[in-house]
Amino acid sequence: MTSQLSRTTTLGDNGSCSRLTAATIKRQRMFNSATFSRDPGPAAAEVLRTYWDQKLPIRVDLIAQRMGVGLFPRPMDYSGHFVAADHEGNSTGKPAILFNTNESASRQRFTIAHELGHFVLGHGTSPRDTSKVFASSNPKERAANQFAAHLLMPADAIRMMISQGHTSTNSLADIFGVSPAAMGYHLVNMGLR
Ligand SMILES: [Zn+2]
Repeated sequence: MTSQLSRTTTLGDNGSCSRLTAATIKRQRMFNSATFSRDPGPAAAEVLRTYWDQKLPIRVDLIAQRMGVGLFPRPMDYSGHFVAADHEGNSTGKPAILFNTNESASRQRFTIAHELGHFVLGHGTSPRDTSKVFASSNPKERAANQFAAHLLMPADAIRMMISQGHTSTNSLADIFGVSPAAMGYHLVNMGLR
């Protein structure tokens, strides 16, 4: 199977073209991060179950929007920032993610997923994220990174792609829209390398 075909492969039971049902939309309006797990892996899986359209690469921007989070792309001197809905100075009335359009597409996707982690894991308004913050040992930053990895590269989907012959790190990185470094690191963490 070519990687083009694999991008539209149905994953799971829901069907590749499943539309958002009324029940799903209702659930989305009622989204409250307090109802999700505080454990990054399970929390990412819960978000995917509710908001993912089963297509690869995973559109974290659409997932954020479906969760009622505002996205603010702009050129900046840092990677990203999560601002809670009730944060002073946030006049949008909803949680907001700022991300840096000067960075690569795969970096922007990772940043959105990381900032969404701060939201889902209940961290509230978080420090501005730079490469240094991403790499820090701060527990909340580590949790947001783990959430991002599980959101962008779910284990079941990776195993399915590997079973279809996409075994190289570069090929998997391309399919999942992440950097080869992020994919390589995640494969090791999952015990697949
Ligand atoms: Zn962060």
